[in-house]
Amino acid sequence: MALDTLIFDLDDTLYSPTTGVWDAIGERINQFIVDNLALDGAEVKQVRDELFHTYGTTLRGLQIVYGIDPYKYLNFVHNIPLETYLRPNPMLNRMLKQISNRKVIFTNSDQNHALRVLDRLGLDGIFERIIDVMDVTPFCKPQPEAFQQALKLLGNPDPTRCVLIDDSLRNINTASELGFHTILVGNHNGNAHSASARVDTLEDLPLLADLPFLQGIWRPE
Ligand SMILES: [Mg+2]
Repeated sequence: MALDTLIFDLDDTLYSPTTGVWDAIGERINQFIVDNLALDGAEVKQVRDELFHTYGTTLRGLQIVYGIDPYKYLNFVHNIPLETYLRPNPMLNRMLKQISNRKVIFTNSDQNHALRVLDRLGLDGIFERIIDVMDVTPFCKPQPEAFQQALKLLGNPDPTRCVLIDDSLRNINTASELGFHTILVGNHNGNAHSASARVDTLEDLPLLADLPFLQGIWRPE
């Protein structure tokens, strides 16, 4: 059956984790916790890890346990100088344009951050829509409910006709269980049993062109 939609994660998928973006956001998250929860630096890591593992994202944990305003959090943690870390990627732009199917972003960050990242990478106009963490409230990836809500927002395509492309093994695992095709991005030390396929970087996607579920997605040049 022909593929319907390609669903791309944003952070550490559209660009490499070595860019430092995620580390910069991580420092902002730590600062937010210090400022708003009256914790000292040493306690922050433990609290963050607990919230992340129990609730899927630090944000969801902060909302549920501490009643934090999600917009205040999202604005604060994504307020980083992206131009320091990211550069336009014309090669990625060209490759993605050659895919004729619907392409969307599904991110645990917010719309504003996603738009800034796409702008900085030179990928404006490639994706039909951005599904952000507020669109799937009160859930987030990797919770199955978040994927179900995303499908609903996309007009309920059959998940077996969608592919999730994501650097997070947790997200890949849920999507696989729900019937999506999955492509894990990045080096995960061979730890990718549940993914349909794996690439080191998104630019390598054409290397998977022979996979049955990706047949026919490339426009002839
Ligand atoms: Mg990611």
